[in-house]
Amino acid sequence: MPHPLATLTALVEQIARTQDPATIMETIVQRLRELLEVEVCSIYLCTPERDALILASTQGLSDAAVGKVRLAMNEGLVGHIAATLSAVNLADAPSDDRFVYIPETHEKPYHRFLGVPLLHLRKLVGVLVIQGHQRKPFSDEDEAFLITVASQLGSTLYQLHRDGKWMSNLQEVSPYRRYTGIKGAPGVGQGRLWLIHPHLSLADVKQAMTSNPAQQKSDFADALEAVREELESGSGKLGQHLPADVRALFHVYELMLQSPELSEGVLRLIDGGASADWALKQTVDEMASMFEQSSDPYMQARSEDIRNIGQRILNQILARDQQVLEAPDEELILAGDLISIADLASFPQQRIRGLLCTAGSTLSHTAIVANALGIPAVMGVEGFEPEHFRGARVIVDGNRAECMVNPPPALMSEYKRMIDQEQRFMRDLDRLRDMPAETLDGVRIKLLTNTGLLADATPGLQRGAEGVGLYRSEIPFMIHDSFPTEQEQYRIYSKVLKAYAPRPVSMRTLDIGGDKQLPYFEINESNPYLGWRGIRFTLDNTQLLVSQIRAMLRAHAEHGNLKLLVPMISRVDEIKTVRELVEKAAEALKRDGVEVGIPEIGMMIEVPSAMLLLPKLAPYIDFVSVGSNDLTQYLLAVDRNNPRVSNLFDNMHPAMLVALEQIVGQCRQLKLPVSLCGEMASDPVAVLMLVALGYDCLSLSAYNIPKIKLLIRSLRKADLLPLLERAHDCSDETQIRALFAPVLERLGWSSDHRQPPESTEQPH
Ligand code: PEP
Ligand code: MG
Repeated sequence: MPHPLATLTALVEQIARTQDPATIMETIVQRLRELLEVEVCSIYLCTPERDALILASTQGLSDAAVGKVRLAMNEGLVGHIAATLSAVNLADAPSDDRFVYIPETHEKPYHRFLGVPLLHLRKLVGVLVIQGHQRKPFSDEDEAFLITVASQLGSTLYQLHRDGKWMSNLQEVSPYRRYTGIKGAPGVGQGRLWLIHPHLSLADVKQAMTSNPAQQKSDFADALEAVREELESGSGKLGQHLPADVRALFHVYELMLQSPELSEGVLRLIDGGASADWALKQTVDEMASMFEQSSDPYMQARSEDIRNIGQRILNQILARDQQVLEAPDEELILAGDLISIADLASFPQQRIRGLLCTAGSTLSHTAIVANALGIPAVMGVEGFEPEHFRGARVIVDGNRAECMVNPPPALMSEYKRMIDQEQRFMRDLDRLRDMPAETLDGVRIKLLTNTGLLADATPGLQRGAEGVGLYRSEIPFMIHDSFPTEQEQYRIYSKVLKAYAPRPVSMRTLDIGGDKQLPYFEINESNPYLGWRGIRFTLDNTQLLVSQIRAMLRAHAEHGNLKLLVPMISRVDEIKTVRELVEKAAEALKRDGVEVGIPEIGMMIEVPSAMLLLPKLAPYIDFVSVGSNDLTQYLLAVDRNNPRVSNLFDNMHPAMLVALEQIVGQCRQLKLPVSLCGEMASDPVAVLMLVALGYDCLSLSAYNIPKIKLLIRSLRKADLLPLLERAHDCSDETQIRALFAPVLERLGWSSDHRQPPESTEQPH
């Protein structure tokens, strides 16, 4: 242990000879790392606004992370030290709930961690941290020494802090930046950026060596064991529902995990000095390329599997899953590639003020759920790298599809004013709850809600939904960590039916595939929207479908308001089989003493063939629901989730006009009730066209119901009919929109037609 006084004197003398802030900090971290014989020493300094900490200098973590890592007060261990002004000394930091793994640091699995606040005259300047591989806390002596050093360095660092000079090399992180994306969900919100899934992919692991192979080997062994358990529980539970060929997939994973090539390869490389993650990457690459070289297509396909397994092991090594355990206690903007429903569910809803996704588009599931929950969202944000802005203040403007990082104070207060105004306006609309959605010339439109989250049931009712037009049953499946059992499903469905009874609830059978993936059941297909989706998947996994139907019927027996909706129908035999399965399930339940009648069975029109075959499908169905999201996707051959072609995705394309007109006309002839439940029903311009076309039942997110009701109550259908006539002559969607948009403008709606005026309602 160095002599504290001598060490400090030498250090202070050395610093005194230095002018440049970066060099001063470098000297400190370098000298301390040597003196304390630790792997890492880092300084985090407060931003001038004192609202976040930035990694200002490090020895041991990646240089590239300096200036990039930003932690909110109370975020991670460093944020915790800053918020509590107390030291933290841990034997195993990654297993602490407050730990946050930050991928840009390329932090190896360091275990011991000691951090102390840097203070000057009781004011926080930053945090000083040392880290090491051993799994034991630092000694009391080390802790006392670091506290002494910190108290001495506090004033030197305070000078740098006050001058703001240290920020000069970090300037790139704090200036105001603006990014644009694609509209996800309307509304404006602001908060601190919280990064979801800082995902270090196996492909990005950099060469790194270790001085402690024994530790690396034990970390690798722990990671293997954790993945083995993960797979075992997955296949165990899956086994209850899935046929043997699907279960076999998990078996392949298990075999790979046990293969000597994998573990021996990794251990050999660690013996040669490689770190566990670097050894893993090399071994997996080698195994994958051997599979790729095989002439047998089955073996070639195994390269995907081994990379998959490798990624899971890496995740465990980096303990990355622990990062979202403790978010700071303030309003958050969640940012990441595509934020899953499970991610959303792990934060209290009132703290989520916005979503920013670098991938996806308006119809991604993330956007749909954001819409349902009234959370502003921007998707497919171009050039945005959220990992560089952890903890930064961010505004999400879902109306304009923009986000602003580190906005200047004036902009911030302007947005705050807008947010307050919007909240006031939405509250004002509550008065419409019990009023009918009826046009000024007496056309009554039924407004139902789209839902999938239980949390969403109350808002739907509060906002005046007359029932549920689309219950997306895949959402509870997505939040679960394995396929829910019949009993678990029954409990959920029963709560939903009860909440809405006696109003009708159209529950859709599981619609996974496309961008709707279950975390515990990956479907890897090169063209997933044309693959194993919706009813195709569930019919092939009949047991799964039957248990879902049984759960729905049991809930129906209690509450009597179920309507069963089937997604992605493209053939007559599909709906015929579903009806037979429902009838059989009802009979079986009756034999077990559950008195249940056959509910109305409806189908979604999402695939063009269903639209064209409507008269042939009609004998098997009681109602129709148009899924305009998928119908547009399949009719226009435009991926609903691909930002590159999102400008081509428009529900008001002339081909959609023809399709929608044909559907409503045929339903009238066939005496089939029809509703529309895609996002189109939330788009005010599109609603004008739908009302003109004769759609008198729309299902939309609860959040948007009051707005659309206000619109309907402000217009006359008779005024829209001549516009519809002219729309038939239009050759593109821009022309059609241009025909209807002036109606909104006359009613005083904002230029992007998403925001209604303060008061547009005419007396009824
Ligand atoms: C649709 O396709 O319009 C629809 C409502 O279903 P989902 O968005 O869930 O695919
Ligand atoms: Mg759909």
